[in-house]
Amino acid sequence: TMETVQAGTDYRDSTYWAVLNASVAICSIIVALSLIAACATDTIKEIRTISNTDLLPGLRNRRAFDEEVHSALAKSARASVPVSLAIMDIDHFKLVNDTYGHQTGDRVIAQLGKLILEMPRESDLSGRLGGEEFAGLLWNADLAGARLFAEGLRSSFEAQRLDGMPRKKGCTISVGVAQWQNSEDFDDLYARADAALYRAKNAGRN
Ligand code: GH3
Ligand code: MG
Ligand code: MG
Repeated sequence: TMETVQAGTDYRDSTYWAVLNASVAICSIIVALSLIAACATDTIKEIRTISNTDLLPGLRNRRAFDEEVHSALAKSARASVPVSLAIMDIDHFKLVNDTYGHQTGDRVIAQLGKLILEMPRESDLSGRLGGEEFAGLLWNADLAGARLFAEGLRSSFEAQRLDGMPRKKGCTISVGVAQWQNSEDFDDLYARADAALYRAKNAGRN
């Protein structure tokens, strides 16, 4: 029995035992780190999706819209393709909230968001800038093209059946459009479209 104990001690002292031990430890650490990394990647993806979209899957919030709009303008300048900005705002929306409740208001906003998401073509960029205000950067659209887009959206929204509201009580939007002038800042483009929206509101809305 002395010999067996001796052999066991030798084995535990051997390089082979040490290497085996170290390998098992390293493997365990690698597996653990991989699991942590996989979880972290999932979480980061989820956070990114949550922080860039709102209300509806695929609808950008202001932050995501702002992030992408600059590269879209640069691309338009490189390709010499006209782009225009459309800003949409629901008319008398305070009244919708006051009359039918905030939840119905939210659903009306979501319905407009869905319409805007479905209307644009492949390379258009749209988003909810806040509240009941939306923006669309329309690729390959000069001022006339942008007006056509705005008119299409205006009439489709006016014709929509809105969840939680009586059939006869429709809701309308006003739209301001402006075509991007090469080298103009996005802020200036936005200000011009916003001024047009303001004029549309004052001229009677819808
Ligand atoms: P106007 O025709 O001039 O646009 O009139 P308005 O009543 O729509 O006025 P305004 O655009 O200034 O007000 C928007 C209102 O929308 C104010 C706020 O109470 C409401 N609102 C903003 N965000 C939300 C939201 O996420 N959900 C709901 N239900 N209401 C919102
Ligand atoms: Mg409004
Ligand atoms: Mg508003």
